[in-house]
Amino acid sequence: MEKTLHLHHGTAYHRSREHVPVRFPPIPYAHLRAIRCILFLAVAGVSSLAIGGDPMAVLPDDPRVEEIKSPADFFGFEIGSRHLRHDQVHAYFRYLSEESDRVAALPYGQTHGARPLSAFAISAPETIEQLDSHRKSRRKLTTGRSEQVPNDAKLVMYIGYSVHGDEASAVNAAPLVAYHLCTSMSDEVLEWLQQGIYLVDPALNPDGVDRFANWANEARGQFASPSSIAREHNQPWPGGRSNYYWFDLNRDWLPLAHPESQGRVKLFHQWKPNVVLDFHEMGGTSTFFFQPGIPARTNPLTPDRNKELTRLMALEHAKAMDQANELYFTEEQFDDFYMGKGSTYPDLHGAVGILFEQGSTRGLRLTNDLTQRHFRDTVANQVRTSLSSLRGANQLKTDLLEFQRDFYQKALTSGEGDSLQAYVLTGSQSRISAARELLRRHAVVTHVPTSPILVDGETFPPGQALVVPTAQAEITFVRSLMEPLQSFEENLFYDVSTWHLPSAFDLTVHHHLTNLPDAWLTDLSGPTSEAFRADQDCAGYAIRPEELWAPRLIASLMKLDADIRITTEPMRGSDEGQDWPPGTFLVLRQPNQTNWDRILKLLENRATKDGWVAQALASSMTVSGPDLGSTTVRRLPRCNPLLVVGAGTIAYEAGAIWHFLDHRMGQPATLVDTLQLADVNLQDYSCIILPSGSYSTLGERHVALLKEYVRGGGTLVGIGDAIAWLQQKELVVSTPEKKLSPAADGNRDAKSDTELRFGDASDAKALESIAGAFLMTKIDPTHPLAYGFPDTEVPVFRDSETRFELPTNPYQIAARYTDVIAGYVSERNRRRLIPSAASWVSPLGKGRCILLADNPVFRGYVRSSERFLTNAILVGPTISIPSAPITNGSSERQSGIAEEDHDH
Ligand SMILES: [Zn+2]
Repeated sequence: MEKTLHLHHGTAYHRSREHVPVRFPPIPYAHLRAIRCILFLAVAGVSSLAIGGDPMAVLPDDPRVEEIKSPADFFGFEIGSRHLRHDQVHAYFRYLSEESDRVAALPYGQTHGARPLSAFAISAPETIEQLDSHRKSRRKLTTGRSEQVPNDAKLVMYIGYSVHGDEASAVNAAPLVAYHLCTSMSDEVLEWLQQGIYLVDPALNPDGVDRFANWANEARGQFASPSSIAREHNQPWPGGRSNYYWFDLNRDWLPLAHPESQGRVKLFHQWKPNVVLDFHEMGGTSTFFFQPGIPARTNPLTPDRNKELTRLMALEHAKAMDQANELYFTEEQFDDFYMGKGSTYPDLHGAVGILFEQGSTRGLRLTNDLTQRHFRDTVANQVRTSLSSLRGANQLKTDLLEFQRDFYQKALTSGEGDSLQAYVLTGSQSRISAARELLRRHAVVTHVPTSPILVDGETFPPGQALVVPTAQAEITFVRSLMEPLQSFEENLFYDVSTWHLPSAFDLTVHHHLTNLPDAWLTDLSGPTSEAFRADQDCAGYAIRPEELWAPRLIASLMKLDADIRITTEPMRGSDEGQDWPPGTFLVLRQPNQTNWDRILKLLENRATKDGWVAQALASSMTVSGPDLGSTTVRRLPRCNPLLVVGAGTIAYEAGAIWHFLDHRMGQPATLVDTLQLADVNLQDYSCIILPSGSYSTLGERHVALLKEYVRGGGTLVGIGDAIAWLQQKELVVSTPEKKLSPAADGNRDAKSDTELRFGDASDAKALESIAGAFLMTKIDPTHPLAYGFPDTEVPVFRDSETRFELPTNPYQIAARYTDVIAGYVSERNRRRLIPSAASWVSPLGKGRCILLADNPVFRGYVRSSERFLTNAILVGPTISIPSAPITNGSSERQSGIAEEDHDH
């Protein structure tokens, strides 16, 4: 037997044995397993302590620093006997950082739930003392200009646990790994400490970890049930996987919508680690997975050397797992394509990212056809592979450092044979500044020229162009954002197939092929518009709708009880630049007399921050188009949305809407659980938002209440799958899907039915799924649901195959699909979807249902289509659909359906 497989009885552990509730005698692990099985049979699955060895036993039986408490001594129970809460894990790491000269805390923020975010650097005491200078000297390796790897260069590893909060074996393993590194006096560990700096991040998603741990600890009694049907194995909605706003943080390494990822990526770029470990759990019938993943589905920009190093490290994991007689698999199921994941992002940054997936017990123990497992066993595997990673990376230290140096050297010279000098993004100011802010967080060098620049024959004023030079260290990452790939080595994806940044921000990308003019390398800081000077005596202000901040401003004005109006026809004011499109917001002095000073103060404050142009209106008389007092100028009702969440809705989808309203727009909203919908007085709300979901929990009573609400003049916003439910319940009239001609339906590359093989079935299904792609839509800019976009083409992000037929009345349609811009969509799906309905309005009684086929704020990354959502909730209640043109022969009950909201 390997010594690592024996129960550990380190000195420190023995010293305070009285605090440890139950101890097994020091017997070999294999024997323990046999005993465990016997006990399991004897008690017919009711004991919580009979199975599962102490994961502490995975740690080598090393001499240890005695003063430092083991996790069991610190917590008062063995690791794996309960689920640790985040505050407990954090307290243990704080304790280590105070007691051990091998540890320093690196706090990097606070979650939405006000929980501390921190990594802990573990290294030799003399390195910990000089941590800052080590961090700074590492920069040489990643500038692309370093010839030699300095002799004293350290291996840096980022070791992250439980980005998914309910994948608990990971976060529960972290204290043991840290304890080992902080206390072992073995030659091996002392050498690791000499050679490297280990940034241990015990909980990447503290809010999710706590949501899960609190539930898991409360959902079982003294005797843990092994039955997967038991309550303790089935979390209530939304589960602990996601963060505070129900986002998947392991998709947020690119969007950086949340403080967890913002802080972590900042730390990543401060340290530029060589290896990033990412510990997860998968389904309870699976064994254990470590990368490499599916070879054909690796991101095409991942260097070959990265793949070799991943394989070499895998040999160490295999050895450790074989020694423990644990089953595992590689090169299946998981891929390394979408670089917004923790194991893929490092691969485009000169590091090696490695994903680990442990089959979950979810609760404390689980028995199924394939396995009998205790939570302790799962923690033990995470500890094993943490140690095998440390071992493997240390053996490969020189290779990893040289790989990193080479990666950045090649990055700098990669463009030399290439005429591409820069990607130039052009578009509205707020989109440019949002894209720039995101790129800055990813350590990408950008410039916003201070004078107008000429690109592709068009002049762009300051603030409306972003220059991203190709001669920079992070060019690999930049390329992955800018190239709209549509064909791939294999058209199957574990996650999305594109994350094309220009589409996400609705910017045009130009490839600049000649030398960069000096004037392009200047940097505009702060707003470009002229200073805003409040004019007490003007007739009011016009707020142009194209900028991303406009809805936020309107929400703030509404909080002041301001009367906000909106134009529905083009207007021209007396001064230059006063061409206002339909959808321009007006805040007029006359109806806001009592509040005028506060409104001006708010406009002034926001102008300083956003630099927007609120144009003063000299008079109610316009030069052309309706005057300000015209009935075509509509008053917006006070926005007071009800967001339906909970069982039956998809938590990610609901969370994306909630986060957008709460953070991006600053719009207060009431969240109601599906099960309580019948208790709500719906008339109190200006609109009801149904995020994508099955709505299987809603009954006929709910349907009747929603119908009554809409018929009475209410506004129901249905997104994604909610539309299908609304159609099924006849709140929305569905147009039958037109049959495609056999020629159009056929995928030219597809095999005929007789050629299909049984073994290809799952791939064949996946090939027809849309994992995530950008489609272009054409909008009707005169349609109130499509107001405020910079032009008539709007990219949307689609991750479903569901198709909605275009309504027969063309006035219902705000946007239809016209093309695929980036990502994989099968030929058959292209022909099905183009054209079909992307956003439209379906009238019912005096009200209307507003329908958005795609989540307009996907993952907090897609900014291009968010205006569909803000229009739905701000302008939606005023929309009334004109009758269909006579020629269409379908003018049934569609006129005058919405009542005027004017209260005068
Ligand atoms: Zn996971």
